[in-house]
Amino acid sequence: MDPNALKDHLKFARDLGVAGVSRDPEWRRRSGDPEPPPDPHAPPAPSAILYRNSAEALAAVRIDIGDCVRCKLHAQGRKQIVFGVGNPDADLMFVGEAPGADEDVQGIPFVGRAGQLLTKIIEAIDLKREDVYIANVIKCRPPGNRNPEQDEVETCEPFLFRQIDVIKPKVIVALGTFAARALLRTLDPISRLRGRVYDYRGAKLIPTFHPAYLLRNPASKREVWEDMKVVRKLLKSEV
Ligand code: URA
Repeated sequence: MDPNALKDHLKFARDLGVAGVSRDPEWRRRSGDPEPPPDPHAPPAPSAILYRNSAEALAAVRIDIGDCVRCKLHAQGRKQIVFGVGNPDADLMFVGEAPGADEDVQGIPFVGRAGQLLTKIIEAIDLKREDVYIANVIKCRPPGNRNPEQDEVETCEPFLFRQIDVIKPKVIVALGTFAARALLRTLDPISRLRGRVYDYRGAKLIPTFHPAYLLRNPASKREVWEDMKVVRKLLKSEV
């Protein structure tokens, strides 16, 4: 190429706001060009990797999250990422909203007062915490325990979906309005959503009240017990 033509071309690109050029063949490909052959040195796409077991696959999700700075919560006082805890092959998974202060310190979901009540709820259906898997829609504590914001949910929920897809639980319990709304893509309140079983990513999803709500409204424990009886029945069924 004539050096003057190249100079003009680069100036034109700079005027258009192009900040740099790359030698990456994919970058230079024009629409209509044939697909390049696969690069044998490229790391495999996540879905193409075969893990030996769910624990390894979950560990890979945790590695992908890394020391996450994808949303603004990383700069708003979170101490650490609260990934999830429990049996990587659990039949039953609980999904809460976001870590609170205790969870932020310990790096484990549902360890504060609400968490202690959740442990009792799990034990009420003859399971132990270690039998189930517990995670949140959001992996970092929002400042002052404010509600997670839409952009934070959109950034973080793909990691929850990957956790669900690895664990393949039979039953998911969405704890509280926020988790139920985020998973079911609805704006309905938990009072309207609970009492029904939803099909969700190959699992049965049961929305119920959040344990923190139960601490303030103990009378609603009765409804949660009804929901947990349905959970127990679904866990025993073949579906
Ligand atoms: N509330 C939640 O939703 N999640 C936790 O981990 C703790 C409290």
